[in-house]
Amino acid sequence: MREKAVILIVDDVRVNLQTLAQILKDDYTVKVALGGVEALELASRHPLPDLILLDVGMPEVSGYDVCKILQGNITTAEIPIIFVTGKDSVEDEEYGLGLGAVDYITKPIRPAVVKARVKTHVALKRHRDELRAMATRDSLTGLYDRRYLTDALMSKVACANRHNDRLSIMMVDVDHFKKVNDVNGHLVGDEVLKVIANAIAAAARKEDIAARFGGEEFVLVLDNCSLADAQAKAEELRQKIQLLYPHGLEITASFGIASLSETLNNCNLLFTAVDKALYEAKNGGRNCVVAYREE
Ligand code: GH3
Ligand code: MG
Ligand code: MG
Repeated sequence: MREKAVILIVDDVRVNLQTLAQILKDDYTVKVALGGVEALELASRHPLPDLILLDVGMPEVSGYDVCKILQGNITTAEIPIIFVTGKDSVEDEEYGLGLGAVDYITKPIRPAVVKARVKTHVALKRHRDELRAMATRDSLTGLYDRRYLTDALMSKVACANRHNDRLSIMMVDVDHFKKVNDVNGHLVGDEVLKVIANAIAAAARKEDIAARFGGEEFVLVLDNCSLADAQAKAEELRQKIQLLYPHGLEITASFGIASLSETLNNCNLLFTAVDKALYEAKNGGRNCVVAYREE
């Protein structure tokens, strides 16, 4: 079962919040914000809302202003907003929709209308989310694809350099995989790749990026992780993969790791370094971990 969609309801009048929450609480996870200030705080807190019902006329920060601020923030820009308001002039509606709201509901609240509109916009939002997820994922393994990895690593490196944070990268290449295909067929090969991808995904924390780099090569970007920690993690994963025996086959993998440093300070240098380490792991007999060391 899919998790319930999260709806954030914003109004400066408590009874209005209660009315809307009552209508939606059975079908959705409902969060409420009493006014614009609280709305801005809750809108960017995880789990992010799938939809916001936003009152227009509020003291301090108006609904229109909340809408503008949320749309200017990369975290919240994609959350659809429905204005809920007593203003029912055509101009108000035009203005609200012009700000980028997906819909407009006028008070007094009619439960059936609220339910129907919310249902439609939640469905659209989820559909958009699915399309986006598909566009960044590798279809065989479900891991991120190489393009996403490259983009995400770029921003992670920039962020880590800015804050002086640690960042490590692990490259995993299945050993003698061509032989697995040759002996067992391509379909079994595919299944083996899926099993290994799952093990790599399971080793990733929420902030990490697990990606299929290509063919039988995978990359794990380890947020806030030193070279020593990355080495321990890779060693653990190496042993785990060796014990998986997908389709009864003994499968091993070789690992290269590298960390961001004063000299390895951009994506290309990191990739070059990790590739070199992996090459050494292959030359060193495979089924082992090699950390890139600067000369
Ligand atoms: P090494 O230990 O040196 O890495 O040897 P290897 O055989 O793993 O490396 P090589 O690069 O020679 O072969 C990789 C193989 O991976 C060849 C290719 O057919 C196979 N491969 C790449 N993508 C897929 C895929 O999506 N599914 C399957 N089944 N095989 C794939
Ligand atoms: Mg390879
Ligand atoms: Mg290989």
